[in-house]
Amino acid sequence: MENMKLQYQLSNGNWANGQDRFEYFIQKAMDENKRRNEFDADKFPVQTREEIIAQLNAGATIAIGTDWYSEIRSGSANEAKMEKRRAAQNPVEMVKCSCGHTVPKGSVMMASRGTSCPDCYDKMSD
Ligand SMILES: [Zn+2]
Repeated sequence: MENMKLQYQLSNGNWANGQDRFEYFIQKAMDENKRRNEFDADKFPVQTREEIIAQLNAGATIAIGTDWYSEIRSGSANEAKMEKRRAAQNPVEMVKCSCGHTVPKGSVMMASRGTSCPDCYDKMSD
C-alpha cells in the first residue's frame, strides 16, 4: 500500500483522508472504470490498478461513482501541484543588499554596516 495520502471528496466539496481505506477506494475506482467502459468502451478504456495509481500519483482526480463528488485523488500529488502554482504566482522577491549581493528577501540579514547576505554577514558586522 502506497502512502500517497489518498483523499476522497465529500458531498460538501471538501476532501477527507481515505488512506486507511486505500484498497477500498482503488477497488471503487476500478469498478467505476469498468462500469463506464461497458457504457462507452472508446471513451473509457479499461484501466489496471497500476494505471489508476499512476494517474493519482500524477495528480489526477479519479471517479469512484456517479455523483459529482464521487472522486478520489492523491493528497501528496495535490499538495505538490498547489505548491507549484503558489510558487508560480509568487515569485521570490530578490533584494540587493548593502554588501552588493542580491538574495531572496527572506535571506537578508541586518548587519551593523547595513543589509547583508548570509555569506557577507561577518564582513558587514563591525
Ligand atoms: Zn553579500
